[in-house]
Amino acid sequence: MATLAATYSNPSYEWQENAQRILIVDDEELMRTSLRLLLEGEDRVVLESATGLGAIDILTTQKIDLLLLDIHLPDISGLEVMEWIAGNHISTSVIIVSADAHIDSAIRATRSGAVNFVRKPHELDKIGHTVANILHRRSLDRRHVLMTARLEQSERLHRFLVESSPDLIYTLDHEGRFIFVNSRVESLLGYSRDELIGNFYTVIVHEEDLEQAIYAFTERRSDDRAISNREIRLKCKDNHYRQFENRYIVAMLSAMGIYESPDNCQDEQASRFMGTYGVARDVSERKRAEETISFQAMHDHLTHLPNRRLFKDRLDLAMAHTLRKGGVIGVMFIDLDRFKLANDTYGHAEGDELLKNVAQRLLHCVRVSDTLARQGGDEFTILLPNLVLAEDATLIAKKIMEQFATPFIVAGHEFRASASIGIAIFPRDGDSADLLLKHADIAMYKVKSSGKNGYAFFTREMSSSYQKRISLENELHQAIRNKEFELHYQTQINITCNRIVGLEALVRWQHPLHGLLNPDSFIDLVEELGLISSITDWVLDEACRQLVRWRAMGMNDLRIAVNVSPQEFNNDDVVERIVSQLNRYHLPEEVLDIEITENLLMHDDPHVISKLRRLRERGIRISIDDFGTRYSSLNYLRRFPVNTIKIDKSFIRDLDDQHDATPIIHAIIGIARGFGLHLLAEGVETSYQMRILRELGCEEMQGFFFSKPLPAEKVELLLLEALKQPIISNYKQQNLCYFGEVTE
Ligand code: C2E
Ligand code: CA
Ligand code: CA
Repeated sequence: MATLAATYSNPSYEWQENAQRILIVDDEELMRTSLRLLLEGEDRVVLESATGLGAIDILTTQKIDLLLLDIHLPDISGLEVMEWIAGNHISTSVIIVSADAHIDSAIRATRSGAVNFVRKPHELDKIGHTVANILHRRSLDRRHVLMTARLEQSERLHRFLVESSPDLIYTLDHEGRFIFVNSRVESLLGYSRDELIGNFYTVIVHEEDLEQAIYAFTERRSDDRAISNREIRLKCKDNHYRQFENRYIVAMLSAMGIYESPDNCQDEQASRFMGTYGVARDVSERKRAEETISFQAMHDHLTHLPNRRLFKDRLDLAMAHTLRKGGVIGVMFIDLDRFKLANDTYGHAEGDELLKNVAQRLLHCVRVSDTLARQGGDEFTILLPNLVLAEDATLIAKKIMEQFATPFIVAGHEFRASASIGIAIFPRDGDSADLLLKHADIAMYKVKSSGKNGYAFFTREMSSSYQKRISLENELHQAIRNKEFELHYQTQINITCNRIVGLEALVRWQHPLHGLLNPDSFIDLVEELGLISSITDWVLDEACRQLVRWRAMGMNDLRIAVNVSPQEFNNDDVVERIVSQLNRYHLPEEVLDIEITENLLMHDDPHVISKLRRLRERGIRISIDDFGTRYSSLNYLRRFPVNTIKIDKSFIRDLDDQHDATPIIHAIIGIARGFGLHLLAEGVETSYQMRILRELGCEEMQGFFFSKPLPAEKVELLLLEALKQPIISNYKQQNLCYFGEVTE
């Protein structure tokens, strides 16, 4: 086979990737050998073939740089090999090496694509030089092709990177006109590229940022190495364009100058400014996120007012300023009175709405230089940094009180809120933000505890009463944990039947240091701290437990009255909790009398009404305590399922031998009759009061005249006595005037 004739001059050619390959095609072995000896060298691989077909075979499978081709071959002619090469677009250079001296052979060969014609044997001496020339040119060509391919590829890559970049990439000419801009401009700003090319970059820059942008570009021009990084706002083509939501893009602009240096000129000054290329990155999302985060960190999410942290920052600043410039600062602590009631009655959503409205009204009272902040819950603070005199704060306080004079609308109802305001003054009342806030808070508590709805400046004396309150708070928590309470019972007498018909359970706190405390000194605070449920549950449990014992002793008709705080009726489970206690002790429902105060009924709240109804439906009795003191409209008596009204002791107190029964007592007794309600007079202290009330037709009474509230074991003695003998003689025995008068 022809290919077998091919021998390899260098067995390691396979590793010589970059070596140039020469194929000698000649039927004379001697000729091949001498040519090989002539041409062999480093970086060259020499192959041989004795036939034309053998050569084609090699050309098909290997890349050959140079072919030394004899025309006369045993099989096909060298010219046919050349035709084959041309026909198959084989890239190789051909030197015809022929003994044929005719010029037309040379011409034919050249026409067929040969690059050179060497006659053998005479011209063989110059073949080395020719081969070297050809191979050199080929390697240059090869390198050029490679470079071009690489360049093309790199350009494709860059174009791809530029076009698919999320950033805006552009080139400006020396005057600042767009020469190039990538397609990102379309999705980012709504311009087509053609609209921008040739236009000045300033068309896309926000007016307010123009100066900055121009500065950035000129600054960079003065030094070609400088990259300007600026944050500027870019304008969308159409600000009302839906996609952009009428917003600006904040771009981080990086720009670099393009300079052209004249040939052979090393002088930078002499280089010519050609323009700018740069990148603009859309950082609007990041900006927005940053703004939101910093706003959220410094503001209250509900009212959008500054929060506690921002308030303190501003207070710190104001203090530093005041120390330099003089003057005083006012710090106000504002707490809404009765907010909890609104929140509990109408729900949190309505409570939130109320807080927003309050914030709005408070804003009306302050100037731009003041700071109104929400501390949390229903607490607000105001920083008055520019007071001339401390007393100037009174003006603001009064303004606030005026704002609260108009009721708020909560869930369609009018809601009267008021505010307790405490004021501390810098530098008089403290030298730190914390201390000033604390003192304003103390002053606010002072207002709260003395009737609410007002304002007060902090004084040193307030501090100690505040401390007392704080320790009371702690002690109360502990009292609830340790159940430091006990129940006292006050008898309720039916005058006509001469019998004890009921007992009112009244809670007492057995304070570890101060002894037995009456509820007036702690119930309000318990309610404020949201702890009332624990007390109610304990009282119900204890009262029921006692009643079971007394019923077992034969006192089957005895009722027990328990005071239930209005706050309890905001709890969804209040009915279940009351009923479950009765069930637990297997007590019939009608033994329990729930005492509520009038103000619970004031708001006509459907939730409260339904809870009272549910209690009534089960047979539990409901009494209105302190009747006549709170609420003038009697309409509710028609609608509420009430059994009894208890005439408040303040009306009974006024009854003495110098004074006749007041019209109010007459009225209340009339109402009870009119509505078919039970009547009970409380606070009966004298036989005179008892007699008048009896004459007016009030049958049931309660008061010191009969018995003070007593601990269980003492009231038990009283009950046992009453069992043994009629109550009349019982009271006679105890030397009480009640007996004497009745028998007269
Ligand atoms: P209240 O329900 O009006 O209870 C009657 C108060 O009048 C009791 O005061 C009682 O000792 C007092 N009192 C009774 N008879 C006379 C009298 O003849 N003259 C005078 N001047 N006072 C008399 P107390 O026990 O200090 O209770 C005060 C208030 O504390 C109660 O007023 C009630 O509103 C509340 N309270 C008592 N126990 C509880 C309880 O368990 N839960 C709740 N939520 N409140 C309670
Ligand atoms: Ca009561
Ligand atoms: Ca009462």
